[in-house]
Amino acid sequence: MANTINSLIENRNVFNLDPTDRVAYFTAHPDDASMFMAYALDNTAKLIAETGSEPLHAYIASNGEASTKGDREFVLAGRRREEAIAEAEYFGVPKSKLHLPGHPDSKLGESYNHSVLTRDIDSFIDGNKITTAITLGAAGGDGHSDHVATHHAVVSLQRNFPRMNIFSLNSKGRGEIVISKTNIDVKLGGLALNSSQFEINRNEENVDNGSLHRIGGFVVASSQAESLSPYKHYLEYESYDAH
Ligand SMILES: [Zn+2]
Repeated sequence: MANTINSLIENRNVFNLDPTDRVAYFTAHPDDASMFMAYALDNTAKLIAETGSEPLHAYIASNGEASTKGDREFVLAGRRREEAIAEAEYFGVPKSKLHLPGHPDSKLGESYNHSVLTRDIDSFIDGNKITTAITLGAAGGDGHSDHVATHHAVVSLQRNFPRMNIFSLNSKGRGEIVISKTNIDVKLGGLALNSSQFEINRNEENVDNGSLHRIGGFVVASSQAESLSPYKHYLEYESYDAH
């Protein structure tokens, strides 16, 4: 990471990237990037756009078929995949840099699946000459076994790519890199693209309705606000460990 451009755009370069770095983020499900990493990814995507570096790559291990509120048709029609594509685009990832291998949702931690996943990530990193990997934390962010499995797969590959920098989410907020809330709309905007998962909409009509919560430029259904509350600190900050 010599010749850092940190001094050029100080606060955007949270991972101390060099213009020649090739950065990828690794998640388990289509909405993980928005929920857990939006501030870091938004900063990084803007930095990349400003410096003309290689666009972000994204590796989303599963299509998220296990969590569509029981709407099987939605998954069969490929709509969850469309949400994944839209979310990746939101973070500046062109389709050509988006990898959606379709590993089985909710089963990434099972021994066989985990070795297939790890091998697949290995060849993704090798094929795309990734120099910087950003991934979920050892505790998964919310303990989801797929999140934990994705973390371990990426971190275990340090032995194959000793020069690759790996940053993983620290859900206790005690990582070396802490990004305080930059613009909450960045996070909500990403979540809103996953409309099969979240009842979050842009507050275009400036609605004032007792059953809705206004957060930033968005309206969030009350029931949704409740189910988001365990994730509340991720709206406030993101923290990463450097490996
Ligand atoms: Zn997830």
